[in-house]
Amino acid sequence: MRTSIATVCLSGGLDEKLAAAAAAGFDGVEVFENDLVASPSSPTEIRRRVQDLGLLMELYQPFRDFEAVPPDHLARNLRRARRKLELTCLLGAPMLLVCSSVSELATDDDSLASEQLHQLATLAEEYGVRVAYEALSWGRHVNDYEHAWRIVEAADHPALGVCLDSFHILSRGTGLDGIGSIPSDKLFFLQLADAPVLAMDVLQWSRHHRCFPGQGGFDLPGFLHRVVAAGYRGPLSLEVFNDVFRQADPGPTAVDAMRSLLGLQEALGHRLDTRPGADLDLTRPPDAVDPAGFAFVELAVDASSGPETEDLLGRLGLAHGGQHRSKPVQLWQRDDARLVLNYGDQRLSANLEGDSLVTALGIESADPAQSVRRAGALIAPRLPRRRGPAEADLASVAAPNGTSVFFCRTRTTPSWLDDFLPLATADRPGGDGPTHIDHVGLIQPFEQFQASGLFYRLILGLRPRGSVEYAAPNGLMRSRALASAGGRVRLALNVPVLGGDVSGPATAQHVAFGCRDIFATAAALRERALPILPIPRNYYDDLDARWELDPAMLEAMRRFGILYDRDETGGELFHLYTGMLGHRLFLEVVQRAGGYDGYGESNAPVRAAAQLAADNLLTEG
Ligand code: MG
Ligand code: MG
Repeated sequence: MRTSIATVCLSGGLDEKLAAAAAAGFDGVEVFENDLVASPSSPTEIRRRVQDLGLLMELYQPFRDFEAVPPDHLARNLRRARRKLELTCLLGAPMLLVCSSVSELATDDDSLASEQLHQLATLAEEYGVRVAYEALSWGRHVNDYEHAWRIVEAADHPALGVCLDSFHILSRGTGLDGIGSIPSDKLFFLQLADAPVLAMDVLQWSRHHRCFPGQGGFDLPGFLHRVVAAGYRGPLSLEVFNDVFRQADPGPTAVDAMRSLLGLQEALGHRLDTRPGADLDLTRPPDAVDPAGFAFVELAVDASSGPETEDLLGRLGLAHGGQHRSKPVQLWQRDDARLVLNYGDQRLSANLEGDSLVTALGIESADPAQSVRRAGALIAPRLPRRRGPAEADLASVAAPNGTSVFFCRTRTTPSWLDDFLPLATADRPGGDGPTHIDHVGLIQPFEQFQASGLFYRLILGLRPRGSVEYAAPNGLMRSRALASAGGRVRLALNVPVLGGDVSGPATAQHVAFGCRDIFATAAALRERALPILPIPRNYYDDLDARWELDPAMLEAMRRFGILYDRDETGGELFHLYTGMLGHRLFLEVVQRAGGYDGYGESNAPVRAAAQLAADNLLTEG
């Protein structure tokens, strides 16, 4: 299906918006009135620019407050309409969008609305333009698509049809059955937006919180399925008003937008697989390969943070098992828990001196080649290979914030592990320790939070969990978790709700290791003198009040600084933390029991406060 984006989705001037849309691979655009009015280019120049970029001009919008006015106002509205239709023509747009009126002048009179829209359509026909009538969810008298369709049906003009906007329909919870009764040749246009499920005024919700399909809480694939089943074959056009996107770079936003439409088409394709019969030309990326776990997590370290990080990993129970053949890179390992320490990563630039930073995720894939093809089809940028002679050919792509994502198969010959010369001296510490990497917590730049969630969800085929907000001592944080179907790869993406320069534990990354027995592991960590983060006694009193835990277990938890969470089905999480390693990283050890599927999010404020109070492991020893 054709893809399109309204210029209102992107920041910048009209020229920048158009260039970004073209670069991201959109087929066409909707030009938004405000962008045109503010542009120094004439409508004809804009038309040429769109053509030169290889884009289709799909629609000009919006024309407001036209229908159902008293007769003495109609002449003025028709004059306005004539000017807009001239403009639509000059732009080369085949369609003008008309929103249902919000004006106090509008009367609640459907037959008057039909009659006047008929006149508008007659006028539009003279210009070779079609008119798509859209019910705004806050329209004065017309606020749902079924009502808009009744008016259009009664107007009965070939140049008049409806525009369906997923936000207006899904935000009001309007039933979708009526879509199927609109003839396909009257479904003129389709605008798509997702949104988080919020209880708020629909106008504010629409103007500030729309997001791209797959980033909110609406069932866009289900909605789109209804629309294509009704015979709609026009463009899939994004119309998103979003405060964050308005201040983000238009280039990455356009890529994020395009990726959302690719994901939406894939989701629609899955629905149509079980209900054949549609003649749709859908983009279908290669299927996701369910990640089988983290092959490794890579940390960038420097001469100051590196030795301290090595020391901590040793106390955690990992062994320095290998040295890279050609680079200043170490492999630290225990069972399937592998950390790669990179002493030569330029991303640890001057302002991060003395820190440790997660820079790459190694994802275990049964078919790395297919994982990479999928990432490419979903327009993930490929990273240049950094491979020496006789070294493993690991393909990687860049996440929105620049984190590298590698796809690999560790247990195969040859394996990426062969790039490391085994160190004979590397004895694995005795006692219990981590067995694998359970999850990774990543801090996302404010403008990229939505894009990152969509990236990991689509590229790795992860399932999103709801997002949660919590108050850390120095800022309100939002956290969105994603997990693979088998639960072997889990990510928690975190962002300060208000953006800005929040520092400290709330905005640090973390690597969480899984273990078999948290109490035995904690005892071994103590034995190896790993500084486990101390948790206040008040926390355990509160746990006791809430859960009535076994007193001996509670006492052991208190002694070791083990935190606890329980879900509705009785699944349990036991976890402990280190203090901060510099300003950007800490480590966690978890044990899941009884199918617990979360991350202990409710303990995050206690953890962050304790880390703020504790000594920094790097700077204060
Ligand atoms: Mg709309
Ligand atoms: Mg965690």
